Amino acid sequence: MFAGILASLISANLLAAEPAVKGPEKVEDWWNAGQAHIQRSEQLKPITGKARNVILFVGDGMGVSTVTAARILEGQMRGQTGEENALFFETLPHVALSKTYTWDQQTPDSAPTMTAMITGYKARDGMLSVDHTTHRGECDAGAIAKRSLPTLLEQAAEAGKATGIVTTARITHATPGATYAHTPDRDWEGDAMLPPNCGVKDIARQLVELSPTVMNSLKVALGGGRDFFRTTAQPDPEYPDRRGTRKDGRDLIEAWLASRNQLASGSRYVWDKTGFDQVDPKTTPFLLGLFEPSHMQWEADRAKDAAGEPSLSEMTRKSLAMLQGSSQGYFLHVEAGRIDHGHHAGNAKRALLDTIELAKAVKTAYEMTDPRETLIIVTADHSHVFTIAGYPHRGNPILGLVKPVPEQDGIPPDVARDAHDLPYTTLNYANGPGAKNRSPAGGRPDLVHVDTSALDYKQEAIVEFKSETHGGEDVAIYASGPKAHLIHGVMEQNWIYHVMRAAFGLSSKH
Ligand SMILES: [Zn+2]
Repeated sequence: MFAGILASLISANLLAAEPAVKGPEKVEDWWNAGQAHIQRSEQLKPITGKARNVILFVGDGMGVSTVTAARILEGQMRGQTGEENALFFETLPHVALSKTYTWDQQTPDSAPTMTAMITGYKARDGMLSVDHTTHRGECDAGAIAKRSLPTLLEQAAEAGKATGIVTTARITHATPGATYAHTPDRDWEGDAMLPPNCGVKDIARQLVELSPTVMNSLKVALGGGRDFFRTTAQPDPEYPDRRGTRKDGRDLIEAWLASRNQLASGSRYVWDKTGFDQVDPKTTPFLLGLFEPSHMQWEADRAKDAAGEPSLSEMTRKSLAMLQGSSQGYFLHVEAGRIDHGHHAGNAKRALLDTIELAKAVKTAYEMTDPRETLIIVTADHSHVFTIAGYPHRGNPILGLVKPVPEQDGIPPDVARDAHDLPYTTLNYANGPGAKNRSPAGGRPDLVHVDTSALDYKQEAIVEFKSETHGGEDVAIYASGPKAHLIHGVMEQNWIYHVMRAAFGLSSKH
């Protein structure tokens, strides 16, 4: 909204006054910025009418420390000190905290957390949009149907709205999967992962064989994960040495095309950037884009991709252009799925660059929509054990070694040292693969000659794990548009669903 633009103008002005801040900005600038906030806030009025459209952005694993570090990195990439920067979604007017614990987990995983946001119920670890009475590995399709929880996407479809899913992860991965699939095991992405004689359909097949109402509604699905849609006999178009993973002999891409073309001719499947760019959103009734055999590239690696891939913001733009043709409005879910994977790898830079791309995607959506009729929510499913530590001075490179404010004015900042006289980085993890970087004596490595801002650098960690873990503290929710004011205070994660329902004006309890 205007408030958001004003906020970014103010921070830009602050910086324009002192481009390379070494000392304080002008005293009156701090005052003026505070006063501008008061004026904006006094004028802020809830938009109480119904939302025609809802867009739910999820930064997978985007905890508050990730947002802060990405904000600083984005500012520093523009030549600023960074701390004063705001990612686009941080300028949205309403913010709350989200309690992410699930039915059985203190620190949660993506499957039950997305289930909470999209169905209104806190579920069990590893399960998608089924209730907590579901047994792990349950293969009885009838039992799963009974325990299935209707999702907001399905309810939007029933209300006559168009729907869409965008992710940089596999389209069958936990977060996007929870919007359309119901399964007791998030790993059942393809039929090869199912136990023998299992009556429950794998997630890829559930996406292709949707109920007639949802099939009609789901106009666009973009992400990675071709392997689960292609058979073991089919070579991958981008990596000819690689084959699909389906053992049932079904080419699900052909099946998707056949079923959608029956509804409306001109439906398209694309798998590379060229194909994606050629799609005319106005004349394409249904679009499936699968841009990698598994997850799509991190934003940092996208330019090197063999066949080329669209960015998260490009996919968001195309999806909105398709959905905006709907007479009844739409629901779109957009996941930045690989922030989480960067962190799991102990690799902060990739996680932060994907967070910055998410902010760009939110800006794209905001600019393409009218805030009076579109509710935009930006949140995370869970956090990571990622910390911003030490006392680096203002403007210290966020990926660098900690250099504190010098004790005397006029002296350049020098690296800080730990109890063993070794320098350390601002960004670290409580656990993960970075714990491997021990010196031969088992102590911390000497980082003096290490480029800690290199793309592949893995930040240090205390407890060694191959994969860094999620964090259990609250995550933030940012919102604008109709009913965005209902995002406030400390909320249970599953209340997000209720806010989206209220915004759509869906009345009956399912
Ligand atoms: Zn994860």
